[in-house]
Amino acid sequence: MPLVEINPDRCKGCELCVVACPQAILDMSKEINTKGYFYAKVIEQPRCIGCRLCAIICPDLAIDVSVNAVQYEFYSY
Ligand code: SF4
Ligand code: SF4
Repeated sequence: MPLVEINPDRCKGCELCVVACPQAILDMSKEINTKGYFYAKVIEQPRCIGCRLCAIICPDLAIDVSVNAVQYEFYSY
């Protein structure tokens, strides 16, 4: 099963990942992160299909997606 991990403190609340997710399983938290932004969170992890669109579109590299325990990395930093 795919696993989506969002680092709240890297998120700037742009909501691009929420719009990009074909399963509509991402939403914005009602709490703020250390930067003062409402951050994205996964609301229905079991429905994730591991497409990685959320991780690809995130401009702040805040999302990691693992499929079958393999973590895909788009950038090294
Ligand atoms: S990997 Fe795909 S289905 Fe899963 S949360 Fe990201 S965009 Fe949605
Ligand atoms: S795309 Fe990235 S920065 Fe934008 S809301 Fe999603 S996790 Fe946060």
